[in-house]
Amino acid sequence: MNNTFTLMARTGRAFHLAQGAQLRITNIFGSQVVDTWAFRADDINEYMSMEHTRVHSTCPTPGKGTVFRSNMRRPLLKFTADSSPGVHDWFFAACDGARYEMLGFLGEHENCSDNLRRAMTKLGHPISHIPCPLNLFENAPLLKGDIGIYPPASRPGDFVELTAFVDLIVCLSACPQDMADTNGLDREPKNVQVSVVHY
Ligand SMILES: [Zn+2]
Repeated sequence: MNNTFTLMARTGRAFHLAQGAQLRITNIFGSQVVDTWAFRADDINEYMSMEHTRVHSTCPTPGKGTVFRSNMRRPLLKFTADSSPGVHDWFFAACDGARYEMLGFLGEHENCSDNLRRAMTKLGHPISHIPCPLNLFENAPLLKGDIGIYPPASRPGDFVELTAFVDLIVCLSACPQDMADTNGLDREPKNVQVSVVHY
């Protein structure tokens, strides 16, 4: 079974990803960061945790081969393919209203934290905590002592694939950041394509 949809710029969506299923996220324009979360379908209190994943990883940043672990240290997802130059982030918090306020935005700005909350509520799983996301395609070279955020290194059509170890609810947010270079020098969030392949 193959299920493909377009995740519209600035929006989020949560969906089920069955054990063994493969999730492919294609960066149609190359410049879009995708915040990614995963929760166990049978208990959303167990979720993909970047801090627990980092403890057991041999790599300084996420990439092909990374096993993403839960807050119970159990494997939830594996990074199984990456056609991009491999620049992703697992340190930065999801954007939220306060982030845009600090950047000088007046009023309510779309943000990844609200996208996650809304998408999970829509599936019947309201959450009160925003785990640190896997920031696919985000170019934030923190480990090089650089606190800047740069445009993604990915190219149009680059994709990543994640494979589920267990039944999951995954949430993706096409980051609405348009006040920094997170989503390219034009600061214009764009659509991405999402495919789920069940074997
Ligand atoms: Zn964001």
